Amino acid sequence: MSSWEKLYKLNTKVITCESCPRLAQYIRQVGHERVKRFADEEYWARPLPSWGDPCAKLLIIGLAPAAHGGNRTGRMFTGDSSGDWLARAMHETGFANMPTSRSKDDGMVLKDAYITAAVRCAPPGNKPLLSEHLNCSQYLVSELQLLGNVRLVLTLGKIGFDAYCRAICARGLVFDHGARYEVNGKVLLASYHPSRQNTNTGRLTWQMWLQIFKLAKKILAST
Ligand code: SF4
Repeated sequence: MSSWEKLYKLNTKVITCESCPRLAQYIRQVGHERVKRFADEEYWARPLPSWGDPCAKLLIIGLAPAAHGGNRTGRMFTGDSSGDWLARAMHETGFANMPTSRSKDDGMVLKDAYITAAVRCAPPGNKPLLSEHLNCSQYLVSELQLLGNVRLVLTLGKIGFDAYCRAICARGLVFDHGARYEVNGKVLLASYHPSRQNTNTGRLTWQMWLQIFKLAKKILAST
């Protein structure tokens, strides 16, 4: 079986996962109740598969799907403001074929990049429990084994950073925006998460964000 087929099989397993009863119940409830602006839409309301180029050199690790973003559209970083920031930066630096990410059938294709998350079910308040992190870590560990071409791991937010460190058993690394390490033959680059909490407050500006992707491009060109 090829790595692509194994990734597909893994994602098939993910979308039926119910290892975290609290999250399984929450995402179904959100999908049932919806919000006014999306009242006519059918929510995905299941765990989210990762996606992208199976031969990717860049792996992006986010936090978890947003209740009315990925949990609605069925694709990570799709249908919310974090997804807008990610798509635009990836498009500007050649990692995506279009600058917006609105639905899973919008035609977006990632080039040399793969997107995953620390936790694959939207958590209440964007705050997964430690037990939920630990449950979901198995999938990231498997992806790291299957994505054999990855040279650079870009983690978004401290949660994405900690998830990667946990998955590779790395200790003592300190999260900061722009922090860069070399671990197990791969570069680890950390960024603030493009959540509204960061982008609306100016903690993460567009220039800071775009700079991370330009740096990622430069690192990949030199490895
Ligand atoms: S968070 Fe991960 S481990 Fe928990 S139910 Fe969702 S997919 Fe399964």
